[in-house]
Amino acid sequence: MKKNIFLVGAMAAYCFSSLALADHHEEGEKAAPLMGLKAEAAEKIDANAKLAQEIVDTLFSFSELAFQEFETQKYITNLLEDNGFTVAQGVSGLPSSWWATWSNGKGPTIALGTDVDGIPKASQMPGVAYRQPMVEGAPGHGEGHNSGQAVNIVAALAVKDLMIRDGIKGTLVLWPGIAEELVAAKAYYARDGLFKGVDAVLFTHVGRNLSTSWGTGRGTGLISVEYTFSGKAAHGAGDPWRGKSALDAVELMNIGWNYKREHLHPLQRSHYVVTDGGDQPNVVPSKASVWYFIREMTAKKILENFEALDQIASGAAMMTGTTKSRRIIGSAWPRNFNKTIAEAMYENIKAVGLPDWSEDDQNFAKAVQTMLGRDEINGLATELDELEGPPAEPYSGGSDDIGDVSWNVPTITLRYPSNIRGTTGHHWSSAIAMATPIAHKGAVQGAKVMAATILDLMTNEKLLKDAWTYFEEEQLGDIVYEPFISATDKPAIEKNRGIMATHKADLQKYYYDAGKFDTYLEQLGIEYPQLKKQD
Ligand SMILES: [Zn+2]
Repeated sequence: MKKNIFLVGAMAAYCFSSLALADHHEEGEKAAPLMGLKAEAAEKIDANAKLAQEIVDTLFSFSELAFQEFETQKYITNLLEDNGFTVAQGVSGLPSSWWATWSNGKGPTIALGTDVDGIPKASQMPGVAYRQPMVEGAPGHGEGHNSGQAVNIVAALAVKDLMIRDGIKGTLVLWPGIAEELVAAKAYYARDGLFKGVDAVLFTHVGRNLSTSWGTGRGTGLISVEYTFSGKAAHGAGDPWRGKSALDAVELMNIGWNYKREHLHPLQRSHYVVTDGGDQPNVVPSKASVWYFIREMTAKKILENFEALDQIASGAAMMTGTTKSRRIIGSAWPRNFNKTIAEAMYENIKAVGLPDWSEDDQNFAKAVQTMLGRDEINGLATELDELEGPPAEPYSGGSDDIGDVSWNVPTITLRYPSNIRGTTGHHWSSAIAMATPIAHKGAVQGAKVMAATILDLMTNEKLLKDAWTYFEEEQLGDIVYEPFISATDKPAIEKNRGIMATHKADLQKYYYDAGKFDTYLEQLGIEYPQLKKQD
């Protein structure tokens, strides 16, 4: 029933405009054909649900990590080229990236983005309510970034058909969030001017409901930076007095930062891993590295904390007689979403509604929640969330480099219900639903909202104008965006190369063959939902 709301709305609007002889409202006249278009887009998307499933399942099976999304790139860009998009590969010095454009002439340019990378050690069989890696120790889609391309592409193809048929002018751009799990690519796009000339960005991210939001105050931005200390090697027992330990510098830096924590605002988040601690204990480490994420709620505070970290690193180098160097690995401004577009999208969310979950879907979700020991065993969402404005009290948490985009162009994020509530983020449990009917249905419903919102932006000049007025007057205020990366910083594209090389041959055995199998679950021989481990 939910799927037909546009259709019912269109009929009502049509009846209204044909029956009311006088007192035509301009809005009403506009709304009728637009509602009709949205209904047609939703029908096309339902008819193309098979493609959504194939994209979701195929990307899931690739299990690619940040900066190594090459199978994903090949598959998606082939698909887009086959559908008439012009594709540039490897933009902004990111070899696994792309920029796909299709135009029907001069009109609004709407850019659709979504992340594509997975999580280390998150390999997981889909559709089973227990831990079972497909490939032990391998990466997997433990967040659900395998589903967003389905949302955007299926939406774009539906809209494209309608634009051609009705002569609607405008340009669609489809771009990927490369290395989002390292928060390490979108600032390069922004720095390199890829969003110049774009009128609005609609971003999609996997979620547990169909929702969107506007404003700031939800989660952090960050600087991700790796410090390397250089000292002097020596025999650890024979002549340690000749050595200068780079590892000592790393340890002292970490101690310094951990003391500093007490005097930082509670909303900050910071964490580190030692990426190089030396080779063996009897050699004084001449090189050592530590990788930090410095997160805060505003760009100004992120830079202040980064400055403090840098001083501590200098202090550690001084104490140990070593030298320090640093490399920015990633960065993100805090997110700042556009109210005008969020409100328009929310109307579409209400019209589209949540998927019709089957009993199997709900049983599976509840079994997963039970397996994880959650307090609430509530299955999949059956009621829409409210449109979220800025929270009364800002709250801390993760970051997404869509933040950088949101300070350049009016931007919002659609969250669509392809995952199960209560699963842990960046974890194998968040992969469990991501190649099942839950993920497929969530993506299809998300695509309908996206298509309807693209149609709003393509056909309603006032909406775009209002979005930009709000962007310039309310969102930016007196803040001037400058990326945290400099003109000479280069993306850390070598990250994860080794890990992918280690696991690729094993993962390839599990690549989804859509020509042979209707679904990935079928290929894997899983009877969905598999609630208990079979002996
Ligand atoms: Zn994400």
